Amino acid sequence: MSALATSSDLNKRHQAASRRERTLVLSAIVPGGLYVIQHLLRKGQPLPGLTPRADELVLYVLGAWAAILIFGFGRGLWKKYGLNCPQCNREFRGTAFEFVEAQGACPSCGTQVLSDVVSSNIHSAAEYVFRYPRFRAIFFLICGVGVAAMGLMVVLGFGSILLTSPFSAKRTIGCLLLILLGLAFLTLATVVGRGWRSLLTEYVVDANGVTARYRGVSTFHKWSDLDVARYASLTRQLELRFLGGSTPIVLTNVELDPDETNLSIVKNLVESCGHMPIKRVLL
Ligand SMILES: [Zn+2]
Repeated sequence: MSALATSSDLNKRHQAASRRERTLVLSAIVPGGLYVIQHLLRKGQPLPGLTPRADELVLYVLGAWAAILIFGFGRGLWKKYGLNCPQCNREFRGTAFEFVEAQGACPSCGTQVLSDVVSSNIHSAAEYVFRYPRFRAIFFLICGVGVAAMGLMVVLGFGSILLTSPFSAKRTIGCLLLILLGLAFLTLATVVGRGWRSLLTEYVVDANGVTARYRGVSTFHKWSDLDVARYASLTRQLELRFLGGSTPIVLTNVELDPDETNLSIVKNLVESCGHMPIKRVLL
């Protein structure tokens, strides 16, 4: 999308892209689905005239067909219809599209994309609240402890098998792989658990800064004190550290919104009000 579009134009393109995507998905999964269903009805018997091997092959071909349609032709579909931001390339689908329709601007970088919808300067007045429902926070904390305990048990258990049993190449490799898996669980739990306090804290983010409320105590951090801003793409956590603040602020996608609209707006706030580029990391 190079020049500004009108909202009716954007709507038409969105409908066309959605139709196209629906057709692609249906033509990708329907043949495979029908084949699997007839396979189940025939109780695993191959189609008449097909050997079991050929029957299996048909399924592989149908699977490959689905993958090519969805990942080959489906990729970049929204961009082909001009449904992406000219500035940051964000695709306008789902909640991002609704945002553009309502505000006329890209939810990620705030660039004006519609000529007939003027954004009411979304970043100056609005505030964005990040608060986990209490039961979900506690559920996550219990899961985190569980994953860590499981990792530790796997590491210790297979470590002791490795050390005590007589040497066998196969067993050694098996044990080492399982120990690595246990270590991966431990790392994951530690990385996610870094922000455990954030799960129990309510954050209100606006153009002035971030207010954190933890156990009835409010602390305000202004953007000019921002010291570190990093976004971990694997865990989808935005971590902010302010001068004088002891604990890091970890903002995650509380609404479980696949487009992360709220988080995108806050990332933009960090860069425009905090005057700090966000460091992108994996973990
Ligand atoms: Zn953008």
